[in-house]
Amino acid sequence: MNALVLLEDVTKVYGSQPALDGVSLAIEPGESVAVMGPSGSGKSTLLNLIAGLDLATAGTVRLDDQDVGRLNETRRARLRRRSVGLVFQFFNLLDNLSALDNIAVAAELAGAGRADSVRRADELLDRLGLADKRSAFPSRLSGGERQRVAVARAIVNDPPLLLADEPTGALDSHSGEQVLDLLRELNRGGRTLILVTHDQRLAEACAERHVHLADGRLTADRRLDRAVAL
Ligand code: ADP
Repeated sequence: MNALVLLEDVTKVYGSQPALDGVSLAIEPGESVAVMGPSGSGKSTLLNLIAGLDLATAGTVRLDDQDVGRLNETRRARLRRRSVGLVFQFFNLLDNLSALDNIAVAAELAGAGRADSVRRADELLDRLGLADKRSAFPSRLSGGERQRVAVARAIVNDPPLLLADEPTGALDSHSGEQVLDLLRELNRGGRTLILVTHDQRLAEACAERHVHLADGRLTADRRLDRAVAL
């Protein structure tokens, strides 16, 4: 099976110190991977490179059988919209759009028509228990609801890969567990999950493989027998 994500000897330098230093990593379709490490170890840089939001200084990043570094910006954006769903700690919803439109616009940006985008957004709101919030603006939603809208937005184009950066970091424990359940369910449904987290418990609950970074280097890569329940 081809890897969905393949990094070969990837280095990213911003100033003088490398943020990532010779990282090689292959992630197969359907895996759940937690990326762990202290602040400043390169976790966000790794996510940004995988998503094609940033480019490696050296080495190769392949996503969904495409060499990200060889694509121009337009084609990289297209690959990202089709292949990656992004979930951030602070949701990154558009404040002036309703819950429905936050989701539908992501489908429209990927080329879907308005009617189809609204239909897909409504289906996801329904599935995530947010049907009654379709017209609500983010400021009227709880943190957990905002993050579920953000997850809906991330999957509206049915990407094979979900990248989540501390997705429960800003949530209370109950809302955090709801979001975790959702991510686990999506992974069990076949979607590949890469989760950046400081939280060992979260990593154990959600990911069967744990990758550790320190100072931009991969220091551990281990597979658990199975993820345990929280
Ligand atoms: P983590 O997500 O593990 O906290 P980061 O990937 O954000 O780590 O950062 C790794 C290193 O790269 C840090 O030293 C950070 O200061 C540096 N860095 C990250 N992004 C940038 C940037 N855009 N410009 C300059 N330095 C950066």
